[in-house]
Amino acid sequence: MSTKPRLRFAPSPTGKIHIGNIRTALFNWLYARNINGEFIIRVEDTDAARSVEEYEQIIFDALKWLGLGWDEGPQTGGDYGPYRQSERKDIYREYADKLLESGDAYYCYCSEEDLEKMREEQKSRGEMPRYDGRCAELTEEERQRCENEGRTPVIRFKVPKGKDIQVCDLVKGNVNFESDGIGDFIIIKSDGLPSYNFACAIDDYLMDITHVLRGEDHLSNTPRQVMVYNALGFDLPYFGHLSLILGHDKAKLSKRHGDTFIGDYQEKGYLPEAIMNFLALLGWSPEGEEELFAKEQLVEKFDINRVAKSAAVFDVSKLNWM
Ligand code: GLU
Repeated sequence: MSTKPRLRFAPSPTGKIHIGNIRTALFNWLYARNINGEFIIRVEDTDAARSVEEYEQIIFDALKWLGLGWDEGPQTGGDYGPYRQSERKDIYREYADKLLESGDAYYCYCSEEDLEKMREEQKSRGEMPRYDGRCAELTEEERQRCENEGRTPVIRFKVPKGKDIQVCDLVKGNVNFESDGIGDFIIIKSDGLPSYNFACAIDDYLMDITHVLRGEDHLSNTPRQVMVYNALGFDLPYFGHLSLILGHDKAKLSKRHGDTFIGDYQEKGYLPEAIMNFLALLGWSPEGEEELFAKEQLVEKFDINRVAKSAAVFDVSKLNWM
């Protein structure tokens, strides 16, 4: 077990990586280097239908171009390869079995039609649609009947009732969630692969991750991951959720605000150092007025306490004087 701080970048290769994801990679890398920690890459490719090898390659090309090297992973010809969740299926199953044994998880045989009907009924009663936990009540006999009918189950996590879940976030401060607002969620899908929340929690634990720094779109996933940690008796890492990057008109960043794909800058001949400098200032500001920094200076100055709570604005014109 490592005694150093450990951070990770965990992209899903389901699309061309954009500026926001690269900024997340950079902040993790800067933070790891600043606190003399380690940085690892984990490819979250458990969505078999949407994960594409070409997108994975684009991620590595971008990281290499920017000089964001990583410190660990399976060896591939002298180089570190990334961890790939698709190669770790048995590990997730082992932990799902532990949860089944302790009663913190159960098999669910509901079909898509059953779930749709449940959602419609809940909506018509004015309730928030969520899984109602019915399969947690199945007797062994009923379960066997479902198996005999050839139904393929998923495994769901049994969300404890009436719990307050507090996430102490390095960027946002304390954020509270109530477990009653969260339905029993899937941890192993019908294809045997883990869901994002489950694989992420198990890997962050097994890979000794001490700081989970990611986009704020994952904040609502965090209580689910915290519950998995708690059920398995794991110590929690620190969490930090980075605010969104918006266009100059405060709308969600898209192509019309300029190039949002890192490869575009590569092609146009920008220097990686300039792009790194530009990305570092998207949601982080060092002390003082200075805005031009070399890579080593960024590492030295990076301070998680100076990461903005509010959205960063993408102003590509700044790049032209960097
Ligand atoms: N795979 C997730 C994504 O690409 C990131 C998850 C995380 O950092 O926990 O959005």
